[in-house]
Formats: sequence, structure tokens, C-alpha cells
Amino acid sequence: MRVGETIYLDHQATTPTDRRVVELMAPFFCETFGNPHSTDHIFGWNATKAIDNAAAQVGALIGADPDEIVFTSGATEANNLALLGLAQDSANRKRNRILVSAIEHKSILAVSRILRDQFNFRIDSIPVDEDGVISLSALNKLIDEDVLLVSSMLINNEIGSILPYREFSKTVSAAGAFFHVDCAQAPGIIDLSTISQHVDLISLSGHKMYGPKGIGALYIRRNIQGHVHPIIHGGGQQNHLRSGTLPTPLCVGMGAAAEIASSSLGETIEIIRQRRNRLIDGLSCLRWPTRLNGPSVISRHPGNANILFEDFTASDILATLQPRLAASTGAACTSGIPEPSHVLRAIGLTDAEAESSIRFSLGRFTTDKDVDDAVTLIEETLTRLERHSFAAIT
Ligand code: PMP
Repeated sequence: MRVGETIYLDHQATTPTDRRVVELMAPFFCETFGNPHSTDHIFGWNATKAIDNAAAQVGALIGADPDEIVFTSGATEANNLALLGLAQDSANRKRNRILVSAIEHKSILAVSRILRDQFNFRIDSIPVDEDGVISLSALNKLIDEDVLLVSSMLINNEIGSILPYREFSKTVSAAGAFFHVDCAQAPGIIDLSTISQHVDLISLSGHKMYGPKGIGALYIRRNIQGHVHPIIHGGGQQNHLRSGTLPTPLCVGMGAAAEIASSSLGETIEIIRQRRNRLIDGLSCLRWPTRLNGPSVISRHPGNANILFEDFTASDILATLQPRLAASTGAACTSGIPEPSHVLRAIGLTDAEAESSIRFSLGRFTTDKDVDDAVTLIEETLTRLERHSFAAIT
């Protein structure tokens, strides 16, 4: 995947929208543009039909029914709705603890702080091992009858570690707690078709699965919907769970992307994995020491390679690579904040090691040539940076 001269290896930050998805969205801007909540005419009915179909497609991705899907503006809002929505229900206040994994996205960590400071919940962080996976024994130690909710990502956005959610689900439901899983990184990567049988709430994001930006969804199991309070109030759309006029083209795009993610699952994963391994092998043949952070290649996201470049700073490498190669120093949402990744620190890296690490993430449209050219560009970059640092010393 290249745009002009630039190779794109940052698919965990965002994916390009699949052109088939864009085509399906197009009629909903200028033709079928009715307000899906207009009940008096055919424009409204057609838009409603398209939204219902999109909810069914998103539901099918995770084995849920359309009425269990609440469209949001993205996974950030879905995460906010899951945590704040449950915490606001007075029936839920008998339990005053929330367990959150140490490597969550900022949209979970920031909301957790609000639940602690404004709602008096006790937040416990579930530690992860050096592979970035929460161990069942760590969860067992923390969980008790006073826990309202356990929240964890399915796939980590920085190091690609994967949560064994089925095992966790048994422990969480035995304690009578709710289980929320942030699946933003998982569609098209993991078979999610039965996950709703094991989990109460699931967050999804359109732009991480070749759909459009500005749309996401929260799956809320039907029998707990009465325990989730809205965080956006207004016209009572979406069964009062999230008010606001639904953006029909975006919903249609997310639905189409969900359908493509399910149907192309088997074909794409192996190819992406081989190309990711080709990148790791290519980098390991260079004359500078590199290390793969996080899980082994077989147990991580097939497109993720988080690489530590000893003796270099990730931001120097990435800046020197511009505009030829796009990768990132970690979660895009935290880039710009000069603080080492909390995910890399949680798996035991020092601040200096975290600052020397780059996340490469490959996608459905990455080619072998992209990978080979990326390795060559990185080799040229490290050579240049090395020369500069020698020049600075002498
Ligand atoms: N959760 C995870 C695991 C993510 O990777 C992201 C995006 N970085 C989000 C939530 C937030 O998603 P969105 O951009 O749709 O708000």
C-alpha cells in the first residue's frame, strides 16, 4: 500500500477505506439522504432500512442481533459509553470496583480515572506478562463479588498481544461482573463470530477495519441494556442509548466493512503474517541490533511488528524516513505527548527502550515490495543517523 512515494505501514493507527465500501456509501450522501429518524416519508424509511441493514452486518461480525448494536462516533465513544453507562446505573453501585488491564487504550484509562474521582469507584489495574497478555491468575487474584466490570482489549494496538477472552469470560461471569472487550483492532484479524456469547459489551471502530472514520459501535447484550445509561442525551434515538441523528453513509460504510472483514478473514491473515515476518527477518539481517517487543510472531496480531532499534531514537528514525515511509512510535492518540508508551513500560521496557521502539503495522493491501523497500529505506536511514551521531561526537 503506497500513496505516491509513501509506503504505509501504520494500519493499526487507521486503515484506508476500502473502495468497495466508499462506493456503497456514495448514494447515501445525495440521493438516499433522508433523516433515518423521519418516520413520515419514504426518504426516512429508506435511510432507516439502510441503517437496519448496517446494524445487522455489524451484528453478524460478532454474532449479535441488530438491536444489540448501538452506533457511536468511534471506539473512543463506545468505550466511554460502556464504562460511564454502567457506572451511572444505581443498581450497579452495589459493586464498587472496576478492573482494567494495564495496557488499555487511553479512552479506557482516562474514563477509569473519572470513575475513580467522580463516581468513587476503586480502579484496579490488571498486570500483564512480558508478552502483554493478562494472566488468568492475575485476574483471579483481583476478582471478587465487589467487582462491577472487567475491561480489556482483545488485541493490543501497540504490541499486538491477544487476550484469551473465553477463559476470562468464565472467571468474570462466575463473579457476577460485566465483561467489556475493546475489539477495535480485531475485525478481519480474528474470528469474532461467536464472541458475543462470552462478553457483555464490545467496542468497535469503523476506521480500523477499512471502513470510514467517525463511526463505531458498542454491542450491548440485550438483557443488560437496562443497566447502561446514555452519555449523550437528546431525541432518544437508538433505544434511548445514544441520541443524535445517525450518519447514514457512515453506518452503511461500517456495515459493509464488517461484512468484508468477516468474509475475507481466512484469505488475508496468512498473507499479512508472511509479509510481517518478512519485515522482521529483513530488519534482523541489518547490521544494527533490533528486538521484537511483545509476543512471539505466532501469538500476536499477524500484521504487527513492534521493533526496538538499540542505540537509536524512534522519533529520529521516523522523522528521517519522511515522507517515504509511515509507521509510528505507538498509539497515534498519544503521539505528540512526550511520554514513553505505557504499554511498553507495562511489559517491562525501560523508558529509553520504549523511546527506541517503532510500531509497524501491515494491512490487507501491503505488498512484498512495500516490505522490501521499507527495509532498504530503514537501512539507509540508520546509516545516515549513525553518520550524524559520529559527526556530532568527533
Ligand atoms: N481502542 C483501541 C484498541 C484502539 O486502537 C483505538 C484507536 N487507536 C481506539 C480504541 C479508539 O478508536 P477511535 O479512533 O474509533 O475512537
